[in-house]
Amino acid sequence: MRRKLVVGNWKMHGNVAANKLLLDGVVAGTRLLSNVDCVVCVPYPYLSQAQSLLEGTNVAWGAQNLCATKDGALTGAVSPEMLLDYGCSHVIIGHSERRSQFHETDDTAAARFNAAQEVGLTPIFCMGETLEERESDWTDFIIGRQLDSIMRRYGVEVLAKAVLAYEPLWAVGSDNPATPEQAQEVHTFIRKRIARCDVNIATEVRILYGGSVTPANAAGLFAMSDIDGGLIGRASLLAGDFVSICRAANN
Ligand code: PEP
Repeated sequence: MRRKLVVGNWKMHGNVAANKLLLDGVVAGTRLLSNVDCVVCVPYPYLSQAQSLLEGTNVAWGAQNLCATKDGALTGAVSPEMLLDYGCSHVIIGHSERRSQFHETDDTAAARFNAAQEVGLTPIFCMGETLEERESDWTDFIIGRQLDSIMRRYGVEVLAKAVLAYEPLWAVGSDNPATPEQAQEVHTFIRKRIARCDVNIATEVRILYGGSVTPANAAGLFAMSDIDGGLIGRASLLAGDFVSICRAANN
């Protein structure tokens, strides 16, 4: 039985005062939820604040990216060990905004995935197709390629300690979420592809859906048998909305 997981991706939003209100609200609202894991992935400068406000609560925290290198002359980069210093448990890898705006590729995402796991961080590995690719019937090909970029390099075993996220690009940051059936179809495809290599890992790996999840549509998405929770962008910036989504996953 897979436990549901809800991850907030704050992207480049927040400030010290607003974060405190948001995190206090999330902590209070999730205090009694026992059937869901909740995580917030905050911008690097706020990891220390997240650590001090979330330690000992029901909410874990993580980062939105990392550098695959341990240390060195890499101006502006943040290493996996640095995230550990701030108590991170999770890190988002290969988000579509990193791929489209920061030139991240299957290769660099895979290297980051591996670097995260090497220090014990749980990577939340994002995959998704553009609208054009979906309309050309390429969804399975694109998702398969992205998934294989990890499995081919590191073996299927690494997925046992990872979280996968299906994030169709046409749904992220839009007002156009995938329907529960559309998301379920891709999640099933992902699970079947993993099952070709290892049935147990395919059964156990958590696959999140991300893309315009709101309190209004969360329950419908989470009711699907292969959707194990959500990766939440905009709605993670409002404590009430994020808590409602966590509650939908908890039920
Ligand atoms: C995201 O950025 O991962 C995301 C899913 O954003 P939104 O929920 O705003 O669509």
